[in-house]
Amino acid sequence: MSKSKRSIRRTILVELLRHLKSQYDFELTADAVRELIYSNAGIDALLSFRSDSRLDDLRGALLRLESDTFGICIACKQSIARTHMDDDVTRRVCPSCESEFNHRRVETVVLASSSRE
Ligand SMILES: [Zn+2]
Repeated sequence: MSKSKRSIRRTILVELLRHLKSQYDFELTADAVRELIYSNAGIDALLSFRSDSRLDDLRGALLRLESDTFGICIACKQSIARTHMDDDVTRRVCPSCESEFNHRRVETVVLASSSRE
């Protein structure tokens, strides 16, 4: 694993642990944390603990990191600026696709509701 990949992985894990702590008052021992840094099996075990969308998002970020698609927009396949990834490590869409997507979603909702009449 490259150094930058490892540091991103650590960032995601820190976020994950912070989430567990704030949502469930669940804290891991230092040994458990060390294990998580190197093993996905540990993460799977941890995530079967509870399921919520934020945990799923963070898990998804770890998987994308492994498949080298972390930080790549799923819509336009361009890299998402590092500053945006720093703001939210679970981001999957670049800001321009996101605004496009939201725009289209609004249109879809409008169309769906007008077709029901
Ligand atoms: Zn994009």
